[in-house]
Amino acid sequence: MGDTTAPPTDGVCPADHGSSRDRGMPIGHLCDPCYAAYIDEADNRQAEDEGATAPPPPAAPACPVCGRDQDRWPTGYGRWILLEPRRLFLNTAVPAEQQWFIAHDGIAVNRRHGTTPLGDRCRIAHRLVCGHGPRPTNLAHAFTEAWLRNRADAGLPPGEPDAGDTPQ
Ligand SMILES: [Zn+2]
Ligand SMILES: [Zn+2]
Repeated sequence: MGDTTAPPTDGVCPADHGSSRDRGMPIGHLCDPCYAAYIDEADNRQAEDEGATAPPPPAAPACPVCGRDQDRWPTGYGRWILLEPRRLFLNTAVPAEQQWFIAHDGIAVNRRHGTTPLGDRCRIAHRLVCGHGPRPTNLAHAFTEAWLRNRADAGLPPGEPDAGDTPQ
């Protein structure tokens, strides 16, 4: 496998790394391999944050928990996200940081607070509503509905209703 050298945390390469360049704040002066490692770490952190940890092609786009194929899209930072297949949600029903949009270049974009949504409907990450995963708690009602649909699709019982749920 490749070099596993971690980038120096003080933004200065050791003398034996060869030529380094100023990469700007807060990165510092790094050689090319250290800079690549820095970017890779940053991308990994963002992927963890956003749940974009799906296996890349040619692996199947299967959820590691339920095993069912999902909609896999590339992110703009070289990682992959599994979105709920074919399901669109009104933006007003989903908190901004859990909204995903597919840009016209085929890149999945996670909306952060303050960014402009791409349309009035969004997609959501599958892992939050996987029918084999825990019932969503502390999430918008749309997530509970999607989780219940996935439970039904998988032939699983709906589970105990939350205290806050409206009786049907
Ligand atoms: Zn270096
Ligand atoms: Zn799943």
